[in-house]
Amino acid sequence: MPIPLRCRCGQVQGEVGTAHTYTRATCYCTDCRAYAQWLGVPGLLDEVGGVDVVTMAPTDLRFTAGRDRIVCMSWSERGIYRWYASCCRTPLGNTPRDPGVHYVGVSSACLEGAGAAVDDAFGLPRRCLISTGTATATVRKRPFTTAWGILRVVIGLAGAKLRGRRESPFFDASTGKPIRVPEIVKRSPHGNQ
Ligand SMILES: [Zn+2]
Ligand SMILES: [Zn+2]
Repeated sequence: MPIPLRCRCGQVQGEVGTAHTYTRATCYCTDCRAYAQWLGVPGLLDEVGGVDVVTMAPTDLRFTAGRDRIVCMSWSERGIYRWYASCCRTPLGNTPRDPGVHYVGVSSACLEGAGAAVDDAFGLPRRCLISTGTATATVRKRPFTTAWGILRVVIGLAGAKLRGRRESPFFDASTGKPIRVPEIVKRSPHGNQ
């Protein structure tokens, strides 16, 4: 059963399949946190500054409305692409710059409408923990579920490569270019941690 995807204001809509989910993860890195703060949407960070994402093959992600609202930012010329809805600044997903790496970290913030179905489909949040060293307070590490989650991403990427999958709603299928010109945003020297 696909999980419905929706930005907060409802202009961007879609769904995610569950066939090629890698893992659900919480990232405590400063880039993800600064991004959540830059978007300015409440509720994106957990109590120790982590963001919740469901990592999957981009072929499982489909937008059905509001494609023209999908925009992209990056913290640097080499940083990952961070896709969000321009209408209400809901984060949608993060992708590598290289469309050959078949990965998207879908923000659970755009899956909220599905309620408990998200946990049923993708596992509970805060089990695979990334960059705990930069959490805003000490985090109880989960080495086993984290290692297992990372391994599932590696296996998933290898599987996608074997299947020769490349399609992504964020990249033009023929040119491999991102569907929007990414805005490079300079990190503010203060705040934005
Ligand atoms: Zn919106
Ligand atoms: Zn991060």
